[in-house]
Amino acid sequence: MTDDDGAAVIDKDGMDALVAVLAARGRTVIGPTVRDGAIVLAEISGGAELPYGWGVELEAGTYRLAAREDGAAFAHSAGPQSWKTFLHPPRAREWSADRTADGGLVTTPDATPPPSYAFLGVRPCDLRAIAVQDRVLTGGRHADRGYRGRRAGAFLVAVECTEPGATCFCVSMGTGPAVGPGYDLALTEVLDADGHRFLVRAGSEEGEAVLAELPSRAADTATRTAARDRVAAAADRMGRSMPPVDLQGLMRETLNAERWDDVTARCLTCGNCTMVCPTCFCTTAEDITDLTGDHAERWRRWESCFDRDFTHLPGGPVRDSPRSRYRQWATHKLGTWYDQFGSSGCVGCGRCIVWCPVGIDITEEAHALNRERASGAGEGAG
Ligand code: SF4
Ligand code: SF4
Repeated sequence: MTDDDGAAVIDKDGMDALVAVLAARGRTVIGPTVRDGAIVLAEISGGAELPYGWGVELEAGTYRLAAREDGAAFAHSAGPQSWKTFLHPPRAREWSADRTADGGLVTTPDATPPPSYAFLGVRPCDLRAIAVQDRVLTGGRHADRGYRGRRAGAFLVAVECTEPGATCFCVSMGTGPAVGPGYDLALTEVLDADGHRFLVRAGSEEGEAVLAELPSRAADTATRTAARDRVAAAADRMGRSMPPVDLQGLMRETLNAERWDDVTARCLTCGNCTMVCPTCFCTTAEDITDLTGDHAERWRRWESCFDRDFTHLPGGPVRDSPRSRYRQWATHKLGTWYDQFGSSGCVGCGRCIVWCPVGIDITEEAHALNRERASGAGEGAG
């Protein structure tokens, strides 16, 4: 049952029903679940597999599960994976080639049908990240057929953030903690004296149809108010923030800053930040052959701009130094992404801070660049 604005309330058993309804519609349901000491995104077959009673403690270079007494399912922030793991997988075969009996060659494009996913628990920052990747991978001259197929079949269940991590900064990127457009269903988890429940809103026709199949009741005022207050409180508890300046301009005007030397003295150029980032999309092609040489395959796999060979041209790499590679990554995320794609390339999820082995923090670097610019140092093109 829904209210005039389409909002409804479901209980924990409604969450079980949601997984069942999505599976019955032929979708592979991917959601957060506890595995190997982390909250990971994996296929789930029931609501009980959600991480009820688990939260996380985050800091730069640190991630730890933490038990919660309240039994919340979504009181955790971004984990080591993002939804790009499924929409834009780390490895995908593009084609294979086989030698024929007469010595010719037959090339076969990969025709694996795209899976039909339902993503349960998409954070507002990650919903924006999907929109950012949509722009990159489904638009323009370089649209990715595989991504487009996986994305077209995906049903998105967003969950508003009520428990930000210490490394989150979605407020200063304008991407959360309230959910933006693009979802099929949006949930807000509420736990109080009236019980454990979820405010649900539909954002698409299919979302409405799914909601109609769930055991639900019309949204009451107390649940609506509690949901709104919890999201507002999350905004007030945001762990980090970017400097409140035009970040595109800041990147443009600090290309020669000394801070780039400082950060690259710490950066290992391991590329972890690009692997965990929900918007990074770069790939490379990898060709493999069997021992006979009669069968070959081309695979596409994630690539990182921190890799020295990423910009290899005849004569060597264009970005030869760690300084130039870190600066490229940060200035692309926060600056030149606007020129290419009309938005920031950073959604403030904080993953790159958590999963950097030396704890490099993109917000701290931006603040340092801003201070250096204010002091008059480091200006000009680099
Ligand atoms: S910033 Fe951190 S995660 Fe990124 S390449 Fe450098 S050391 Fe690795
Ligand atoms: S740059 Fe860092 S904080 Fe920004 S979207 Fe990527 S991983 Fe998240």
